[in-house]
Order: sequence, then C-alpha cells, then structure tokens
Amino acid sequence: METEFDTVVSLDVAEIRADFPILGREINSQPLVYLDNASSAQRPRAVIDAISNYYENEHSNVHRGVHKLSAEATEKYEHAREKVKAFINAEHAHEIIWTRGTTEAINLVASSFGRQFISEGDEIILTEMEHHSNIVPWQLMCEQHGATLKVIPVNDEGELIPEELDKLLTDRTKIIALTHVSNTLGTLNPVKEIIREAHKHDVPVLLDGAQAVPHMPVDVQDLDVDFYTFSGHKMFGPTGIGVLYGKEKWLEQMPPYHGGGSQIKTVTFEKTTYEDLPNKFEAGTPHIAGAIGLEAAIDYLHQIGMDGISEYEAELTGYALEKLGEINDLRLIGTSAERTSVFSFLVGDIHPYDTGTILDQLGIAVRTGHHCTEPLMNRFGITGTVRASFVFYNTKEEIDKLAEGIHKVKEMLS
Ligand code: PMP
Repeated sequence: METEFDTVVSLDVAEIRADFPILGREINSQPLVYLDNASSAQRPRAVIDAISNYYENEHSNVHRGVHKLSAEATEKYEHAREKVKAFINAEHAHEIIWTRGTTEAINLVASSFGRQFISEGDEIILTEMEHHSNIVPWQLMCEQHGATLKVIPVNDEGELIPEELDKLLTDRTKIIALTHVSNTLGTLNPVKEIIREAHKHDVPVLLDGAQAVPHMPVDVQDLDVDFYTFSGHKMFGPTGIGVLYGKEKWLEQMPPYHGGGSQIKTVTFEKTTYEDLPNKFEAGTPHIAGAIGLEAAIDYLHQIGMDGISEYEAELTGYALEKLGEINDLRLIGTSAERTSVFSFLVGDIHPYDTGTILDQLGIAVRTGHHCTEPLMNRFGITGTVRASFVFYNTKEEIDKLAEGIHKVKEMLS
C-alpha cells in the first residue's frame, strides 16, 4: 500500500547536514564525526524550532482547559498522535499511546499485560539479542506472577535461529517480545515470519522498534504486530517522548499502567472508572512539547522520504563493510546479511574504551561498552565492543575518517 511516507527523493546530504546545527561543531579541534546515532541521533533545526515555538507561543496544559491556548495545545498534541498513526500506518489514533520512550512503553506492556493475562507457570519468549529494556521489565513481571522467560538463541553471525522458536513455543507461551533491529549487531530480524508463526499459536508479539523506525518504513498493519515501541530521540525528535502502539483489542483489555489525572471518568474513594483509549494509559500532564517535536521530526523524515533514507543508508552500510573489512585484526560482531547501519567491532586485543577515547581525540564519536545487551556479550564471550552507527546525514568521507582513526589506534596501542 502506498502512503504519504513512500516518496523517494534522492538525498542531498550536504543540504541535509546543514539542517542539523550541531553537525557544524568542532570536537577536540576537529570537525565532529557523529557516529553514536544508535544511542541518540541529532535534531534538525525544524524540530528545535517547533519546540521553541511551542514554548514561546503556544504552551498551556492539554485536555482540561476551556481557554483558547489550552484548546490550541490540545489540538496540536492530538495532531501529533494522528501523525504517528499515519507514520506507522496504525488503524486508529487511539492505538498510539505516548510514553517517555521505548523503555517505558515496554514496561507498560509487561506490567499491564502481565496483570491481565499472566499467571503462575506461564512463559514469555525473548531473544538473546535484546536490549536490557526488553529483558528487565519482563523479569520484573515474571517475578510478580510466577512466570518464566525463554530465550531464542543467536548464531555466530548474530542472527536468530528460527527453528528454536518452534521448540520454545508451548501452550503456556503468553507473549513473544523481540527487537526489530539489534542495537548492537545491526541485525534486521525476520519479524514478519516470527509474527506469523506466533499467531498460528494465538500468541501476540511485541516488537522493540527503537532501532528500526529511524531507518526504514514501518507498517504495523502489514506486520500484523500486536505491540510496537519506539523512542523520539533516536528518530531525530526530542528526548523524553516515545510511543507504544498496541492493537485496540489488546489495549482495551489491559488495565491502566499509571494512575492519576486525565485518565479517569469518575473517582470516588471506593472506585475509579477510566477514560477510553488512549487516555486510560496517559495519567498526568504529558510531554506536550515532546509530542509536537516528534511530529516535526516525522515531517522532516517524510520530507526526505523513508525509502530514500533506507536506500542511502544501505549504500553507507555496504561502504562501511568494505572499509572495516580491509582493516587487519578488526573483528565485526554481527555479520548478518540482513542488517542496518550499526557496526560493533573489536580491534585486536585493544580495549574498546581505549579505541573510543582515541577516536574521540580525532573528533569521532562512537559508543563503547556492552550497549545494554549483556546477555549478548556473554553469548559472544566478550565484555564490550566499539559501536559506530550511521544515519542519513553521515557520509562515506566520515567512514574513511573512522577507518583512518582505527589505523591510528592500532599504531598507538598494538
Ligand atoms: N531498545 C533498543 C533496541 C534500544 O536501542 C534502546 C536504546 N539504546 C532502547 C530499547 C531503550 O530506549 P530508550 O532509552 O529511549 O527508552
């Protein structure tokens, strides 16, 4: 199906870079090479302006006021929800729940779905490549209800072993939660197949889309996914705002996660009744500027075109694979053919922290450590990696600088 987000526009990267003020900075007297996008991407001027404009001209609390400013803020806030609905092609705007980010979205599902549907002896399936945000909430829930976690393993390439899912699915399986794209390996998981298989057993699936949404068109109806989560700050929007998409049929049955104002129909000391979706899940004053900033980020992505973004990033990925592949002693962790532009690697026996520190001296920002995927580190028998992650404002010249930087690290430390 064609959506307004399908337009392919060939990317003018120089023009795009000019939209991101921070990319003009120097770090340690060198032009900034920002390769820490998987952790948090940068914001274009359009997002910064939308937030400033909101605070300068439009701020008031939403949903409660009779006055004009409140009505305007409410209209903008709900417009942003409609924008997210269209962006991921949800069926209804009330299936979009604002959260603080992916972490809160997964906690919401684990807690609320758990209270409604999980009892002693039930099972939850995760994978070995999950971010801690998609492990710990389920552990907390399992402890509370006496359920257990089962884990789909990954192979040496950093791909899920799909046959293992069949072995793990039982009549006690209540939900499968996995990442769409691995934040450490870059692996793009075969999520459609997994969802189809899960649904044969009437098991719902939650996808952690934090690393997918900034890079490719996502259509939740086409995926037929039950829950989908993502964060504003990784998709060029504000921090502190994120999204839980849930199919109406699930969200309707789940109890509120937080309690407070704006989510209730009536309150007495004996009993509270709740508003309909989405308000039931949105107690308290929300991050209004965050929602408005996220809408501006989606408009910006739309203007470039998600298909164009994927195409350009695939080109960068191919180039990075070639350049990193030429470096002796560089071990890539995560070599799946189906991948995005996230690269984890080790250089000889040099500690990732040392590599990261020297690269920083050269103005190159990478992340080092376990990337909140300790079980995955254990799987590969390592304690951490260096991670370079690219988005559409990065260039082949920056990949060259990274490769030169790694050569320098080797000269200094080998
Ligand atoms: N899941 C994945 C795959 C991630 O990469 C991240 C962020 N590194 C998260 C979840 C958590 O996102 P947030 O901190 O924005 O809640």
